Amino acid sequence: MLVKKETANKVINGLIIDPLIFTQKFVKGCDVCICSGECCYYGVYTDKSEYELIMSKKDRIIKSMDDSQTKNFEDWFEDEQEDSDFPSGIAVGTEVYNGKCVFLDKQGFCTLQKIAIEDGENKWKYKPLYCILFPLVIFEGKLTVDDEHLDRMHYCNKPINQVSTVFEACKNELKHVLGEEGFKELEEYRKEFFEQDEEDNEAA
Ligand code: SF4
Ligand code: SF4
Repeated sequence: MLVKKETANKVINGLIIDPLIFTQKFVKGCDVCICSGECCYYGVYTDKSEYELIMSKKDRIIKSMDDSQTKNFEDWFEDEQEDSDFPSGIAVGTEVYNGKCVFLDKQGFCTLQKIAIEDGENKWKYKPLYCILFPLVIFEGKLTVDDEHLDRMHYCNKPINQVSTVFEACKNELKHVLGEEGFKELEEYRKEFFEQDEEDNEAA
């Protein structure tokens, strides 16, 4: 009898790992010159602590905004709402202005990432976690693929452009959310997952 190894519900760094991240096809890397940063057209939910950090940098952010963005910081965020997928329990959405997140400039760059780079900081210092992660997402405690949002994309969701996988394309993002040790554990789990898949195919 084939003994099926337990690969379901693997938890790393407190997150359930959805094996879809190993198989979901994706582009080799993001290129906003091609996609115009289209994943940012809908805004994003930030944790309250991220919102507060962004607002503490509002004068600096305004300096790097262009004429397609609103410099009126009172128009940057929606009202707070309760959401248990966020560490503080409170989510605050960014507003959409000119058909894109208030922080997206006309070239397709995120102003929050731009100011961090310009000031010699870590590029993700002010960027909300869900922006860093996409096409990954944390949903009800599970690290998975945001297939609903990915389905809306015209570049990175086109099969002809999907020459890689989410796992291969998002190693730095995975290290960011799982840590270096957690990422090593993920690589082991991925190996087990494909070995099991091969065994299942042979047994079929
Ligand atoms: S996730 Fe897709 S739409 Fe967003 S920057 Fe990357 S390639 Fe562009
Ligand atoms: S905060 Fe930046 S990365 Fe996130 S949706 Fe807005 S422009 Fe895009």
